[in-house]
Amino acid sequence: MTHIAVLGSTNMDLVAYVPKAPQRGETVTGREFRTIPGGKGANQAVAAAHAGADVSLIGAVGADAFGSQLRSTLEHSGVDTDHLRTTEGPSGTAHIVVDDEGGNAIVVVPGANGTVTALAPGDEGLIATADALLLQLEIPLDAVVAGARAARRHGVRTILTPSPAQPLAAELLGAIDLLLPNEHEAAALTGVTDPYEAAAALLEQVPQVVVTLGAAGSLYAARGARPLTVSAPRVTAVDSTGAGDTFAGTLAVALAEGREMPEALVWASAAAALSVQRPGASSSMPYRSEIDAQAA
Ligand code: ATP
Repeated sequence: MTHIAVLGSTNMDLVAYVPKAPQRGETVTGREFRTIPGGKGANQAVAAAHAGADVSLIGAVGADAFGSQLRSTLEHSGVDTDHLRTTEGPSGTAHIVVDDEGGNAIVVVPGANGTVTALAPGDEGLIATADALLLQLEIPLDAVVAGARAARRHGVRTILTPSPAQPLAAELLGAIDLLLPNEHEAAALTGVTDPYEAAAALLEQVPQVVVTLGAAGSLYAARGARPLTVSAPRVTAVDSTGAGDTFAGTLAVALAEGREMPEALVWASAAAALSVQRPGASSSMPYRSEIDAQAA
């Protein structure tokens, strides 16, 4: 079975739904509250597990009730949490206010994610056995660099989602095989708004780039090849949260299984299109048989 390692964040999203977001000093009454397991690392891990891979998540949760809940949700999704440490202090949380117009305001408190500053003993051994390593930027950069370098040492494919967008050191990009930004991140990284031009600029630093374009699909660019555009299936979207993470997790599985990039992109697009038709992030991530049916 394909083995995917993910090094990244695990958060509990605390979501309050309000008619109108409060201003400074104001108190408003919300109509609903939900706790939703999230974090880009955990979401990509769940997507890859649902898509049929053996998945291990490297990261940390806090020694609080959220930590136990996050761990058990991941295990329920089939993700191996042996390398998910429990650290003193709180788990990572995202405090989200969603108003009636669908606008949101978010405060992220990294909590345990902020303690992941390096690989722990055993993490490199795990990465060495993986067919691909998925990375994002919601844990300290030092750990992301250490993970990417460990993967390189063992010839393991590295896929980086550069979110939240921030300037990236050549040291990190030099250890990345495939960079997977959305169009906003691609623009933030290059200063170029056209995604084709942004992808071309990014190819100076990494050998392969996939820019996701929301409902418009995705584009693939590689050194020395013509760019390829893959359209997204036309669907009625109800909640696009986690679409990018579904895409990343399933793309990693397809590539690790040895599929060529065009076929892998069609499969990842099918999975992401399924996820946007359902509410939630990890709870909306489709299973392999559903992805196969949508991609057919
Ligand atoms: P998010 O932050 O919402 O998780 P993202 O901004 O990281 O997503 P997007 O580019 O919005 O990433 O979406 C990722 C992929 O999901 C797209 O390339 C596309 O294949 C699929 N997708 C997103 N929105 C839609 C949609 N409305 N209909 C069909 N597919 C979609």
